[in-house]
Parts: sequence; C-alpha cells; structure tokens
Amino acid sequence: LIRAAIEVRGVVQGVGFRPFVHALATSHRLGGFVRNRGGVVEVEVEGPNASVDGFVRRLRLDAPPLARVEDVIRTAREPRGEREFRIVESAGAADAPAIVPPDIAACAACVDELFDPRGRRYRYPFTSCTACGPRLTVAIAGPYDRERTTFAAFAMCAECASEYGDAADRRFHAQTIACPACGPQLAAIDARGATAATGDDAIAYAADRLRAGDVVAIKGVGGYHLAIDARSDPAAARLRARKRRDDKPFAVMAPDLATAGALVELHADERVALIAPARPIVLARRRAGAAVAGVVAPGSHLLGVMLPGSPLQHLVAAALPGVPLVMTSGNRSDEPIAFADADARVRLAGIADAFVVHDLPIHDRCDDAVVRAVGGTVRVLRRARGYAPAPIASPDGLARPTLAVGGQKKSVFGLADERRAIASHYLGDLDHLPAYRAFAAAIERYQQMTGVRPERVACDRHRDYASTRWARTRGLEVVEVQHHTAHVLACLAEHGADAAPAIGIAFDGTGYGDDGAIWGGEVLIWDGAVMRRDTHLAYVPMPGGEAAVREPWRMAIAHLAAAGADVDAAGAPGSLARDAVLALIVDRFHTPRTSSMGRLFDAVAAVAGVAPPRATFDGHAAMALESCAAGEAPSGEYPLAFGPRGIDASAIVAAAAADARAGVPAGVIARRFHSTVVALIEAACRRARARTGIDRVALSGGVFANGIVLGESIERLAASGFGVIAHRAVPTNDGGLWLGQLAYAAALDRAGVQECA
Ligand code: ZN
Ligand code: ZN
Ligand code: FE
Repeated sequence: LIRAAIEVRGVVQGVGFRPFVHALATSHRLGGFVRNRGGVVEVEVEGPNASVDGFVRRLRLDAPPLARVEDVIRTAREPRGEREFRIVESAGAADAPAIVPPDIAACAACVDELFDPRGRRYRYPFTSCTACGPRLTVAIAGPYDRERTTFAAFAMCAECASEYGDAADRRFHAQTIACPACGPQLAAIDARGATAATGDDAIAYAADRLRAGDVVAIKGVGGYHLAIDARSDPAAARLRARKRRDDKPFAVMAPDLATAGALVELHADERVALIAPARPIVLARRRAGAAVAGVVAPGSHLLGVMLPGSPLQHLVAAALPGVPLVMTSGNRSDEPIAFADADARVRLAGIADAFVVHDLPIHDRCDDAVVRAVGGTVRVLRRARGYAPAPIASPDGLARPTLAVGGQKKSVFGLADERRAIASHYLGDLDHLPAYRAFAAAIERYQQMTGVRPERVACDRHRDYASTRWARTRGLEVVEVQHHTAHVLACLAEHGADAAPAIGIAFDGTGYGDDGAIWGGEVLIWDGAVMRRDTHLAYVPMPGGEAAVREPWRMAIAHLAAAGADVDAAGAPGSLARDAVLALIVDRFHTPRTSSMGRLFDAVAAVAGVAPPRATFDGHAAMALESCAAGEAPSGEYPLAFGPRGIDASAIVAAAAADARAGVPAGVIARRFHSTVVALIEAACRRARARTGIDRVALSGGVFANGIVLGESIERLAASGFGVIAHRAVPTNDGGLWLGQLAYAAALDRAGVQECA
C-alpha cells in the first residue's frame, strides 16, 4: 500500500479534469482527493502499488479531449488509510496562473438535450457541460472555478447543484452549469430599445425579423454577431451600407452540413473542419447557383461557411430550417467586435433593426476563427475562438521568458518561456484605439494566465507599428525582428525546424525592410542562426505610398513604366490621375521603393481589368485575381528574369498587359500569372539550392493564403526534390509573426548573443 502526490500541469482546468480524475481513481479503487491548486491540478491517491502506477499512466493517456497534459510530477507520501476518493475545495491564490481552455462548441450530448422536449434543458441556450461551452470568454481569473467566471452571478438551483455534485453526471463539477431555472436568460429588443420578447420567444422574434429581411444583432460567445438572411440581396446591401463594409466578403452560417454542402464544395478535410469543436469559418469554393445573395461575397470564388456552434446558434438555425444566415462580426467597418452590452447597443444602434441579448457577461471578446484547406491540409488563417489560447512547444533553445508582440493589422502576440509558447487570440487591427487597448489589456491577462514574466520583448522593425511602439516603452530589452525573417521563422518554428538551415520564401503585401524600402517579395536563406537576403523582386516605385495599396492601378503604372511599356494599360481612372502618379514617380515624391509580391498582384489585377478601382480590404485585388484564375486550366507562364537588381517583376506585368491588349480573357491572364508566381518560386529555390545545397523550403507571408499559389508551389517544389514546409496551425499572414519573433529570440539565445536596440 502506497500513497502518491501528483501534480498535473498544462491545460487542466475547465476541461472536466477533476471529474475525470475522480472516475479514474474510483475505477482503480484508490482513496484520496483531487483539487485545483492555482493553475495546476493536485491529486493524492492511496492504494496498492500497481493500481497507483496504472492510475498515473492513465492520467496522461486518457485525459479529457480538451485537456493538454504537459507534466505529471509524482512524489511519495505517507499512507493515511484513506479509502474514499473526493473532489475537494480549490486552493491557492485567486490570481495564480491558470491557462484557460478555448471556447468550445456545444457537444453532441448537449445538442441532444437542447432538442429533447422531455429534458429540463429543452431549448435552453446556455446548456453546456464539462466537455463543452464558453471558457476563455467567461473566465476572469484562476483557478478556473465558477466564482471566477461570469457565471458567478447565477446561483445554482437545487437540481443543477445536485448534477454538479454527482460523480456519475456529465456536469459533475462543470463550472458553466446552468438551466432555465437558475441560469442566464434571453431577451429580444427592438430598434427603439424596448423589450420585444423574452426567453424562447426571443428566438421566434429574431427568426421573424430575419425572415422579413431585417438585420438582427445576436449576442454570441465572444461578442455580437450581425445576422441577416443570406439569400436576400436587399438585406445584404443594407447591412453593407450600414456597417460601412463595401466589398469584404461576409461569412455565412449554414443551419446544417447538408445546407453547407449545397453552398460550397466540401472535401473530407473541410467537412472535418466544419464540425470540429472549434467551429471555425471554413473558406471553401462556392457552388455555382449557391442560394446566397450576390453581395454577400462579391467577386470571390470562395465563401466562408460555418455551422452553428453555441446552443443559441443551434436554436436560431432550427427556427429557420434551410436558411443560410450571414453571421458577421458586430462592428462598423474594421473596428473590433462589440462584446460589452452597453457599448454594443450604442455602436450597433444604427446597424441592427433588433437585438437578441442575454444577461451572461462576456469577459473578453473573441472573434470567429477562419481556416482554409489547401493541398489536403486545413490551415488556420485567423487563430481565434476555439483555438486560442492553446499552448505549443517553445522554439528550440529559447532561454529566457519572452514576449513577442507580433505585427499591426492582424494583431496576435505570443508569450513564451523555455518550454511553451502561448499565442493570444486574434486582436484585430491596432490602427483602432479599442483594438490597441484590447492588445495592451490582453498582454496583462495572458501574463497573469501563464505566470510568464517576460524579461525581453521581441517586435517588428517597423517603428510605426503600435505593437513596436508599445514594446519599446516597456523598459525591457528589445529584440527587433525584420518582418520577413519573422514570417519564415514562424513557418519553420511551427514545424520545430527553426534551428536548421532553410530557404525562405516570404511573399506578402508590406513589411519594413532593413534598407528602409518596403519589402514583400523576399527569397531568404536561413543558416540556423542568421538570415540572409538571397534575392527579391526588383524594386519599383510605390507611387503615393499607402495610396498605392488602396488604388491597385498605381502599381500597374509603376511596373509598366519600369518596363518601358505603355502605362495606359494600367487602367487609371483618367489621364489626370495617370499623369499625377507618373509625376510622383519622376519626382520620387511620397514614393518609397518596394519589392512587394502583394503589390505585384495588384498591378496584374489592374492590367487584367479585374482590380477594384479602390481596394477596401487587405488583399482585395489579389482575391479578385485568384477568383478569376480559379476556374481556368493552366495555359502558359510569363517570362522570368533573375538579374543583379533582383527578379524582374515589371516584365511580367508588361507581358500581362500585352495579353490584355491582344484580347486574352482576364481569367487566362490571371491563371498565367499564378503559374508564373509558382514558377518563380521554384526557380528561386533551385538557384538558392545550387549555391547553398539547402533543399528545405519554408513558404510564408500573406500571399500563401492564396490557394493556387500555395497548393501548386507545394506540388512543384516537392516534385523538384525539396522538402516543403507551409503553415498549418499558425497563420501564414501577419497573425503568425509572433512565433517568428520568438524563434529569432531563441536563435540569439542559441548563439549566446544579446541584441539590444
Ligand atoms: Zn456538452
Ligand atoms: Zn439550475
Ligand atoms: Fe507580412
């Protein structure tokens, strides 16, 4: 007979770990107890030697699906003759670090209960259990117990309390337990602020309004969504006008998998992603004739589709069978999603015709996650609800606690110690004050949650990024990491390959370069310690700077002029505009130099005639170009030229313009350009391999969100004998920079170098 004390570390609170330990100990006929202490789970068991050993083994192997067991530390204790096993009161400081799990969609058992008229949770929208429900967005502090969640305001009724205390119940120690008698309640509010319905009637009210073409704001798990009937053109147009979102595609919630499958083509991997517990938005190819209004996702061959995740979404979907709903974040333009009730009512007042609200506070906002399957692999493009915060292994050799603040527009930061790295949820565009405040507040929260006190901070080299400015005023050692170095290292580190040499292809829209130019078409060589720029797209002027990002035809003029071709092929809105831009180039006035691949997409989209006159979101013209190419079979490439000044991209634009002049359809031009980019990547890698012998390639940067470029690059490079690494769990766009910044700090540690800025 022995007694053992066991400490379990990792994501072990809020995942049903104590009930699991209770069941496991009982089945092994062990006495003792389990409790949360600070952020860890503490267990003491007593019984025969073999049973204790078996118990400890199973602790790791059979852990609940949402748990992440990192460490199991066992120490011997003196037996006390304890025969019974109990869950006891949590101990430890209320501000002890504890990693909260992600918010998880209602599990199958909870959905069954939701629609079971005999059960006491029939149609109750706050049904959850130890295996599902909100976590990150309701947890206030650690250890994860009800009194430190926003459920604290709801005292359990006798029936809930008995389920909570029953070791055989699915809700044994489920902190988000609630029922119609004791839990949060729904209400519907009309545009004038009057209560229109309460409880289940609020769902019927919302369904009626949605059927009538109204915009309904629905308080979700991580913030407010704006919903409309996705089939209605006038409703979609109204939502766009009110939200001031001109063209950026809206995501659609399909009521069930069958309806989703009628909207988009779903391969096996996409189906799996749709029904995964994270319930992300899945970008998939839209079917011809899909029952969705044209203005929902104008000019895109893709449609973002998700399935109901929360019980409330299940109820709304069930009230509108077969009806796809636009489900977009509750905000104006690109501001952060509204999540606090008073703020939401003000900010969404001119947008929503009605609100569905409830009295469970959201502690922290969290957007929907976005994924896309390319090459048979599901890739996360926005790491948010359902994914964050889940720890990953720290980059190899990271010797000190480090905070990496990421980029600017798709803000995500990462916090790491020697062993593990945790990325924040997606925080949005730091150009907006509320997002910047959320960024600063979330850094505090994550430090508390992880217990990691950073000794240095890694950031982008761009001094105008809000994240960089924040980083430089902390009084900590600062490590500045070049943008594209961070992209490539993020990709390598995600695969645990950042300590080995690789060729890095970093293609994106904009990143601050070491020479002050705007980089974005970079071929880099990483030797395991130092990043070297091998080659890049040859510099061209970027007339008007930021204005050239908004107006794609400006980049077409820049490239055509550089190639000595007729600039009228750029499609400028008139000769005055054309001449003004040419004058900027000649005078080098407000005209930085750029090697950006994203801007090359803009230029080709403009000469092909598919660019918007004004890009209203990140990657707008590139998305149009990809959609245009998506329906075409490959039919040739444009010429490639590698020279001392870099890769001549202007010749590509000139060739595309010549095609356009000859009457070649836009789809064929777009397709040829995509083939050209893939050929360029392969050629650049072959040249780098010939010189260095390195045959591993990392593909990173926002351009690799493009399905054709990524999918065909992987194929072509693999066929040429390269080992190809692309992003999966960490976004290829600037939402992945934090990991590359951490990997760079780790490389400094491995080399024993300090870098002070
Ligand atoms: Zn459940
Ligand atoms: Zn209850
Ligand atoms: Fe970038």
